[in-house]
Amino acid sequence: MTNEPVLETNETDRPRRSVSPYKAGIKSVCPHCAAAPLFHNILEVYETCPGCGFDLSAADPGDGAQVFVILVLGGLCAVLGFVLYGLLDMPIWALALTLGVFALIGSVWMLRVFKATLIALQFHHDARQGSVDEQKAKS
Ligand SMILES: [Zn+2]
Repeated sequence: MTNEPVLETNETDRPRRSVSPYKAGIKSVCPHCAAAPLFHNILEVYETCPGCGFDLSAADPGDGAQVFVILVLGGLCAVLGFVLYGLLDMPIWALALTLGVFALIGSVWMLRVFKATLIALQFHHDARQGSVDEQKAKS
């Protein structure tokens, strides 16, 4: 059995990948084969997939992942801080330590998941830079 995903064509003759972009994002794996890791080091995307050789150099999630992580993790930290300090009366030094560790670990994990999901969605929908068809523009 190979790791090659099943490619189907839909009505527009655009290949549809069998790998779910959300599953590939949660697992932080290649959006083409879902078997090899997407990142080396912590947050650097491979140029080509180490498992299937799929070209990942066009992957560009931009700042979208950071925006999602700031909004979601900021809200979670506010709720956690309210519960720990307001309801459980945790000392301020313990609160700062807890929220600091939570924010550090949570932001790295969420950045990997959100960045991998955005990259997988980009490949799943075949997103690319827009261009003008000169022949259609003239007519
Ligand atoms: Zn792959």
